[in-house]
Amino acid sequence: MNGADKINLILGELAGVASDPHGYAAAWKQETGRKVIGVFPMNFPSELVHAAGALPLVVQEDEAPITLGRSLLYEFYCGYTRSIVDQAATRKFDVYDAFYLVDHCVALLGAADALRFEIPDKPVFLAQYTASMDEAWTPAEIRKRVEDLRGALAEYCDAALSDDEIAASIAAYNRNRDMLRQIYALRRSGKIALTGRQMQILVKSSMIMEVGAHNQRLDALLPLLETGLPAPANLVKLHLSGHFCHAPRPELLDMIEDCGTVIVDDDLFTGFRFIATDVRADSDPIAALTRWYFDRNTHVPCSTRSQMTVDWEEYLTRSVHASGAEGVIILLAKFCEPHMLYYPELRKELMRSEIPHLLIETEHEGLALEMLRTRVEALLETIRLRKLQPVLA
Ligand code: SF4
Repeated sequence: MNGADKINLILGELAGVASDPHGYAAAWKQETGRKVIGVFPMNFPSELVHAAGALPLVVQEDEAPITLGRSLLYEFYCGYTRSIVDQAATRKFDVYDAFYLVDHCVALLGAADALRFEIPDKPVFLAQYTASMDEAWTPAEIRKRVEDLRGALAEYCDAALSDDEIAASIAAYNRNRDMLRQIYALRRSGKIALTGRQMQILVKSSMIMEVGAHNQRLDALLPLLETGLPAPANLVKLHLSGHFCHAPRPELLDMIEDCGTVIVDDDLFTGFRFIATDVRADSDPIAALTRWYFDRNTHVPCSTRSQMTVDWEEYLTRSVHASGAEGVIILLAKFCEPHMLYYPELRKELMRSEIPHLLIETEHEGLALEMLRTRVEALLETIRLRKLQPVLA
């Protein structure tokens, strides 16, 4: 078997996990006899669930159309929240023992309430994290919430959840994030040619698979990638931005690349945002998990948080310059209010910095791919003309 075949084999296995999280959870549960806990994006410290001996699985949007869930949440809630309540109503969540979340938006809070209503036999534990990051009292409040999570998980999983166990889980997750970041760095440098779909498989499977098992796959994959083929140099380089909480449809990523582009970087939640920030190796793991909440927003700012000293738009332009991206496609999940309300700031900064960009709103059901293709092609035309300008002048 050559290197490319080995890469495809690993990616194929991870793609299977990414496309069937409930199936993976059921098999893991049968094999280990342990609990599976559904956790919700975007700031939940999965390390605590792992240290308690359970599987923390970041609950994914399901591709199925919303049916029973229609009566549980308004149509103007984002596709992710409507999908999770629909999955609850259609009994797809039977494999989970409980759900844990730290809130980050009103829609997610609504979804948590709908889950409580629809599946009362499953505990739903909410840790209300303060969104205002600058207040003097916020760190102490967040620390209390992390301690609440530790206490609730220790009781629910009947686990000691010692400092050492939490530190070991933190180390495993840091290793996972580090290896994924190495793959991101290779892609940014053009040394490897992984598609948007493949990057999504890597990150999404890391949200689902037991972290030790995922680390083993990445251990095998990284050296193979390092000796792989470079990305073609003649394609337009793009940065994908946004899309909180759930993954954009892979066929959308395929279409963008089919137009003659290469995605060199992103700040998607099912992407770089998820793996950008490590938990500091601290003698007090609760302090480290508290710090992580703040570090995440400093590294890749999020419009669900409020912080005077960081701006997503500045981060975005900096990333675009660092990766050499020639344009940005902003992917906005329809009705994602925190993203929608912040978009004008992103737009102003991209225009000020003369970075061509396109906004694509994605929907849970129905993606007008051919119409979107025309808009992507128009963006690429702008970028190519801009590149030609010095020659034409
Ligand atoms: S942040 Fe956006 S995508 Fe995430 S739950 Fe809230 S509205 Fe939905």
